[in-house]
Amino acid sequence: MARYIGPVCKLCRREGMKLYLKGERCYSEKCAYTRRPYPPGQHGQGRIKLSEYAVRLREKQKVRRIYGVLERQFSGYFQEANRRKGRTGEEMLGLLERRLDNVVHRMGFGSSRAEARQLVRHGHVHVNGKRLDIPSYVVRAGDRVELTEGARKFKSVLASIGGADKRPVASWIDVDRAAFTGAIKGAPIREDLNEPEIREQLVVEYYSR
Ligand code: SF4
Repeated sequence: MARYIGPVCKLCRREGMKLYLKGERCYSEKCAYTRRPYPPGQHGQGRIKLSEYAVRLREKQKVRRIYGVLERQFSGYFQEANRRKGRTGEEMLGLLERRLDNVVHRMGFGSSRAEARQLVRHGHVHVNGKRLDIPSYVVRAGDRVELTEGARKFKSVLASIGGADKRPVASWIDVDRAAFTGAIKGAPIREDLNEPEIREQLVVEYYSR
C-alpha cells in the first residue's frame, strides 16, 4: 500500500497541533510546529473561519495523517467500522490502533509510526514467531510481537526505546522492552488515545454527509 512521502511537519502546522510524526524531533525545540504554530504557505498567518464541512474534513485528515494512511485505505477502515455493531468512530480508531506498524510504535521500538512501519516492511518484526512484513496487519488479542535479532542492535531502535517513556502508554499492550517483545492483551482502550486529541465523531460525520 502506498504511503505519503512529502514533508510531514507541514501536516502538523496545517492541522494546528503536534501530530508527532517525526519521533524524537517532536519533543525537541526543533519542532516546526513549536517554532511556527500556524498553517504553511503565504496566507498561513491570515485569519480564516472554517465552515462546518471544513472542520470535519480537517479532523478526518488529521486522524489519517496521524496513522500514516492514504485516503482509499482510510475510507476502507471507516466502511469496515460502519459494518460493525459498536460505535463507528471507536471501531474505526480500534482498527487503526491495531495496525502492526502502530503496535510496534506503541511498544516503543519505533519512535514514530513511519519508523515502525519501516521496521515491519523490512522484515524486522515477527508475529507469533513468524516474519510478518505487512504494516496494515491487524493484531488480535494474544498475538506476540518481537523484533529480529538483527533489529535489536539498530541504533534507531535503541534510541527509540530510550525515549519511549515520553510517549503515551497503551494499556492494552504488554511490553518487555529489554527483551524486545510485546503481547496484545485485548482491544485498544479509547481513553489511551488522547494524545494528540482525536474527535472521531467528526470523522464519522464527514463520511456520513
Ligand atoms: Fe514536525 Fe514532529 Fe513537530 Fe509535527 S510534532 S511539526 S512532525 S517535529
